[in-house]
Amino acid sequence: MNVAVSRRTAFRASLTGGAALVLGGSGAAALASSDGPESARPGDADGALRLLRQGNRRWRASASHHPNEDAARREELTGGQSPFATILGCSDSRVPPELVFDRGLGDLFTVRSAGQVPDPSVLGSVLYAVEHLETPLLVVLGHESCGAVSAAVEAHETGDVPQGHIGHLVERLLPVVESTPDDGGDFVDACVTANAEDIARRLREDEEIGGFARTGALRVVAARYELGTGAVTFLD
Ligand SMILES: [Zn+2]
Repeated sequence: MNVAVSRRTAFRASLTGGAALVLGGSGAAALASSDGPESARPGDADGALRLLRQGNRRWRASASHHPNEDAARREELTGGQSPFATILGCSDSRVPPELVFDRGLGDLFTVRSAGQVPDPSVLGSVLYAVEHLETPLLVVLGHESCGAVSAAVEAHETGDVPQGHIGHLVERLLPVVESTPDDGGDFVDACVTANAEDIARRLREDEEIGGFARTGALRVVAARYELGTGAVTFLD
């Protein structure tokens, strides 16, 4: 058996409360109660994607339901969490996953870093959700006009890489910028798409996170968000 999967199974077997209880029959019904049938936790990636697409449609239409934000939901979640998707997104204040997918408490496990740079702390956070919370879907969410990607493009074009912590981010974004063809269009925008797709690919190939993708327990998808329209496009 895959090492990562056997660890996950062992963790489930050792659970005496928390997420395991929330995942159980009555817990699942309770989770659904505050938002109608659409809020029942999907058990697979297809169902998770469906909820995200539905939520984004509401967000785009300025018709958000703001599900799972009430006191009852807070109380339901005190015993554990069972989010249906992990979102690896940018820290940009204009792209908060719960808003752009119109979801609430306990729905999304969000990990954010500028440019979605997957350094070791980010990878550990993602792995926690995949392995221990068993989210069936992992979305790498890039976005239009990403400042981190723009900084990497600037460093690529000028050869001037910033120092310090910002430099750390830029250096991790430079390889994808350097490998993205410049066809004369909006190069930053092309790099935004390429970066989301590249990170998704690397996560699928990651020794630990990728183990869940290889067994079919996890689907990793890249996506991008448009600031003006609010639309999320899934790229693969
Ligand atoms: Zn960004």
